[in-house]
Amino acid sequence: MNILVSACLMGCPCRYDGKGQACPEVLALRDRHHLIPVCPEQLGGLPTPRPPAERRDGRVVSREGNDVTEQYRRGGEAAVELARLLGCTCAILKERSPSCGHGEIYDGTFSHARVPGDGIAAALLAEAGLKVLGESQVHLL
Ligand code: SF4
Repeated sequence: MNILVSACLMGCPCRYDGKGQACPEVLALRDRHHLIPVCPEQLGGLPTPRPPAERRDGRVVSREGNDVTEQYRRGGEAAVELARLLGCTCAILKERSPSCGHGEIYDGTFSHARVPGDGIAAALLAEAGLKVLGESQVHLL
């Protein structure tokens, strides 16, 4: 199966701080599946490293107060397009990210407080019909 994966979970240094966050459970799926790494924030044109951002009132705002909603939306749409092109029916995405988080994200106060909700890319991928899982849910695949 072709599975779309948050690139940072495969160790790609695409996070806001210029680092990756390789997840052994995700990497282990390489034996049985084709993993397709994508970083919606980079696909949306944002630089790496970049200021951290969180969702707030339906927008995405950086810690400096810049509205980056459009870049996040563009990156999410590009991820959906790649999923369509490659026939992905499932995505494994980084939990709590304003792009990739699914079911729970940070609340927009940059205080590590969490609220129910989805990142922009995760929401668009779920809307497109993909099964979206976080890295702690690999066993549900
Ligand atoms: Fe990882 Fe997704 Fe953030 Fe890119 S946008 S760094 S893939 S969580």
